[in-house]
Amino acid sequence: PKYVYDFTEGNKDLKDLLGGKGANLAEMTNIGLPVPPGFTITTEACRHYLSHGGMPDGLEGEIGEHLAALEARMGKRLGQADDPLLVSVRSGAKFSMPGMMETVLNIGLNDDSVLGLAKQSGNDRFAWDSYRRLIQMFGKTVLGIDGELFEDAMDALKGERDDTDLDAADLQRLVETFKGIVRERTGRDFPADPREQMDLAVRAVFDSWNAPRAILYRRQERIPADLGTAVNVVAMVFGNMGPDSGTGVAFTRDPGSGRQGVYGDYLRNAQGEDVVAGIRNTVPLQELETINPEAYRELLDIMATLERHYRDLCDIEFTIERGKLWMLQTRVGKRTAAAAFCIATQLVDEGLIDMDEALTRVTGDQLAQLMFPRFAATAGNRRLTTGMNASPGAAAGRAVFSSERAVELAGQGEAVILVRRETNPDDLAGMIAAHGVLTSRGGKTSHAAVVARGMGKTCVCGAEELEVDPHARRFTAPGGIVVNEGDVISIDGGTGAVYLGEVPVTASPVARYFEGEPAEDELVRAVDRIMTHADSARRLAVRANADTPEDAARARRYGAQGIGLCRTEHMFLGERRRLVEDLILATTPEERQAALDALEPLQTGDFTGIFTAMRGLPVTIRLIDPPLHEFLPDLTDLAVKVALAEERAGEGADDRDRRLLDAVKRLHEQNPMLGLRGVRLGLTIPGLFAMQVRAIATAARRVEDARAEIMIPLVGAVQELEIVREEAEGILAEAGVEAAIGTMIEVPRAALTAGQIAEAAEFFSFGTNDLTQMTWGFSRDDVESAFFGRYLDLGVFGVSPFESVDREGVGRLMRIAVEEGRRTRPDLKLGICGEHGGDPDSVHFCHEIGLDYVSCSPFRIPVARLEAGRAAL
Ligand code: ADP
Ligand code: MG
Ligand code: MG
Repeated sequence: PKYVYDFTEGNKDLKDLLGGKGANLAEMTNIGLPVPPGFTITTEACRHYLSHGGMPDGLEGEIGEHLAALEARMGKRLGQADDPLLVSVRSGAKFSMPGMMETVLNIGLNDDSVLGLAKQSGNDRFAWDSYRRLIQMFGKTVLGIDGELFEDAMDALKGERDDTDLDAADLQRLVETFKGIVRERTGRDFPADPREQMDLAVRAVFDSWNAPRAILYRRQERIPADLGTAVNVVAMVFGNMGPDSGTGVAFTRDPGSGRQGVYGDYLRNAQGEDVVAGIRNTVPLQELETINPEAYRELLDIMATLERHYRDLCDIEFTIERGKLWMLQTRVGKRTAAAAFCIATQLVDEGLIDMDEALTRVTGDQLAQLMFPRFAATAGNRRLTTGMNASPGAAAGRAVFSSERAVELAGQGEAVILVRRETNPDDLAGMIAAHGVLTSRGGKTSHAAVVARGMGKTCVCGAEELEVDPHARRFTAPGGIVVNEGDVISIDGGTGAVYLGEVPVTASPVARYFEGEPAEDELVRAVDRIMTHADSARRLAVRANADTPEDAARARRYGAQGIGLCRTEHMFLGERRRLVEDLILATTPEERQAALDALEPLQTGDFTGIFTAMRGLPVTIRLIDPPLHEFLPDLTDLAVKVALAEERAGEGADDRDRRLLDAVKRLHEQNPMLGLRGVRLGLTIPGLFAMQVRAIATAARRVEDARAEIMIPLVGAVQELEIVREEAEGILAEAGVEAAIGTMIEVPRAALTAGQIAEAAEFFSFGTNDLTQMTWGFSRDDVESAFFGRYLDLGVFGVSPFESVDREGVGRLMRIAVEEGRRTRPDLKLGICGEHGGDPDSVHFCHEIGLDYVSCSPFRIPVARLEAGRAAL
């Protein structure tokens, strides 16, 4: 295979092979933008290197050819002593992993060529600055030397000065110091041979794919572990040549709100990472207009070109070398959830995309984020400062000042806010653990901001008034207020405000819109348009899991087209517990019937309320599911109570308590989830299901337009269903009520015998919680703490099968049930009512296998509607 592509050979669709950075550098080259020439070594070469522990045959030669072509084009050789070509060696995977992997700049410098560079540029300071940067970056990323050693040496030399105040002689001294550090730490000299420098850097980039922080980031972002990274070798352009040079980053629109305008940071006389690393303070990009109007206008033109070309928001990295603009990177930019909706509809209005495309540009997760509550009245809390609103949401928690501490406290169940001057890739674990992130430096393009937005985590950055002291574990706010580790603060990612103490929260405008408020601001109008389009595009209906009239009403406001799961077990709790106890304690048919007769009117009232709230829409009622012992007192508590009473009274405790204790002992099961529950209960306790069906029938007669569906849980064999069905049909016929009778598919055997079960069922509803539990043999209630974390770490699965349908296993059973069920009964109605019904990926799966509806909790209904629309495109 071909392992190396010149920028003129690639394009933006080759991300798998060239990585995102390489593909887009090629794309920009080909649409005529000013990109320094270079070439890309493919991800395929990386995969080969990582799995075989060495470079593939032929790669060396190919790199040599492309380097020679680059040298010919530039008219100088890599590291040529009197006029050196310098290159950067840059990582770049298919999916952007900001700051996770390595890049080395200024490759080609050594003791000779640094003099050539100084002479050619007429700028000694620049040449020595470039050389010290090379040794520093190379030392850290390629040779694995602790970067702080270099930083400390530089700080010691600088004293109170800025890095731009260091002159050529200072920097030359620094180079000597840096070389000393390399010698001391590695036992050899800094490699002077330019080609050796380049080859070592290429390997280091390949190796960085498996650096711990890269692995952690991929797991978090669900990026596959086996993609590998490409390597880009790019001719250097220099932003550190003096005041007419500089480097910057920008977005083509505001990634926070989607508003059009100029969003970016610029730093004069600087190179590469200086902008994002917060070494000196950047200036807003607008100031480039005064610094260099020509380059500024060209940059705005290029940004407009990129937006039209990519038909989306882009972010860019650029460098100005002595007034001349160079593009060093672009990609479709990350954005907040709000910006995603606004930008999608703006682009429709600008004629760049259509509504179908707009629907693909937003996700259910983003919508869910927009429904998060915000801070309510903040009057009761002192505002400490306002920083930049880098990533929306509202978060309160204890301030912590290191990643380790964040992980530790979060592990104890504490909400924490990670407070740093700025974050770097090593803070990733802490950012994942924290509820929110607060930094005192850096803009909207800083590491903290970019990563937090990607994770959907609340972030306020650049709160410059705060003095953060990570060693003393505290920060000082204006007015001398000191916040120590453990003190509670609240941060508002929507406004950038930072408060002392815990601020109460309120509903978001998008949530209020779903509650029925008119769409007034831009974001809510955008959500409204996209939701309307999703509803017209989707084939799946969306129902709610709701057991109370209030939940049913809310679900309806959120767009539910019925109830897919109305659980009846809560109707047996509270004051009614005593009636259930009576049922269990009954020793004669008469006593049992009396207990059921007492329960029936209460159940009838419950169903009447729900049918009324859902008038005209289907309501699937599941007959009682959990094991009876759940309605009885705890065994130990009761045993103690009885023992104490016996001791006190001498002769005997309350007779009822003793009988209850007997019943608890009798009903005790080792594996209650695999025990006497669901249909098994219905077949064991005479009259229980019949009472529920009668209550449904009575309620359905009372409410006009009631559309009842009766669902039998935990069926594993058609015989179970037939017995229940026969009795239920009799009751319904007697009441003159029509109701569909169907079953949950939640026991693997039900899925495997769905063809038979469909003979007795008018509908199936996949109970994917139990189906997952029983398919994997994982106890859902115990598993998460015991070993799930470990399994996720080991990559046994990338995401919990209780969160997202396990397509290969559980999903396979579902496919079988759909296919065989429909073969028996072509008009079989199919739905899902497990937690998965509101999970984006699972909604897509349900669409694929041809279900009729998904059912989820009321708050997830908008998410399910949106994803069902996206699935249908
Ligand atoms: P990352 O993926 O972390 O953004 P990059 O490969 O983009 O890393 O490089 C880091 C920094 O170095 C960027 O700011 C980029 O603009 C700068 N840089 C990379 N290559 C060159 C080059 N050839 N000339 C000048 N600056 C460069
Ligand atoms: Mg970059
Ligand atoms: Mg179940």
